[in-house]
Amino acid sequence: MVPGLLKGLITTARTALRPTHTAEYPDVAPDLPPRSRGVIALLEENCTSCMLCARECPDWCIYIDSHKETIPATTEGGRDRQRNVLDRFAIDFSLCMYCGICIEVCPFDALHWSPQFEYAEVSILDLLHEKGRLSDWMATVPPPPALDERAAEPAEVAAANKPARGTGLVGAAGGSGPRAPRTVRPRVARAAEPATEPVATGPAATGTVPPPAKEPLTGTPESVPDDMTPPAPPAHPADPDGADG
Ligand code: SF4
Ligand code: SF4
Repeated sequence: MVPGLLKGLITTARTALRPTHTAEYPDVAPDLPPRSRGVIALLEENCTSCMLCARECPDWCIYIDSHKETIPATTEGGRDRQRNVLDRFAIDFSLCMYCGICIEVCPFDALHWSPQFEYAEVSILDLLHEKGRLSDWMATVPPPPALDERAAEPAEVAAANKPARGTGLVGAAGGSGPRAPRTVRPRVARAAEPATEPVATGPAATGTVPPPAKEPLTGTPESVPDDMTPPAPPAHPADPDGADG
């Protein structure tokens, strides 16, 4: 019994001397990780009303209204263009389960996580945040983390830095200037030969073997006179008289 009592007292003393982990909120603000999922902020100018986030939201708690606006052509003969104008963008945080799918699927980086979480309301209806309030949350969104210095260059940057076609380095002395013109070897030896010397036309000169000379054709239809009768066909060996049957 005494050993058990002593063991309990030691445990009590050890726990009493340990530093406390009590969070004294709201007097002391909690130290949250920068990418905490507190509330969703909207960057309104990036939103094109594409409805992707509303379609992918598993809770169907994103409400978007928009209309189309015609932008007149800026050049003569050009075509008028149309663009979506955002009328309403709202998220009902009483339904949201903070899964982050809407932020992941947005192709235009219009939605961002903010670590701000102090938006409790007395009425649940007030948890429906319209686009004005969602835009105000953008001020609490932390900056994105710095890029990894050893990361590969983004494809867009690599494409922009690629030299344009036709300005390659062939012939250029280590620079990126225009391609040097091709040099043509002058035919000095041929021009210096005397005019009386025959020009070589044999296989050695051209590097190719000429085809053999053709014999003149005979017996072609053009060479046969019109009044000449064709020769009789040879008689069949079984019919010396040449009679039919
Ligand atoms: S975090 Fe999830 S549940 Fe909340 S609005 Fe976005 S997609 Fe919907
Ligand atoms: S927030 Fe993004 S995904 Fe949602 S409608 Fe706007 S552009 Fe589309």
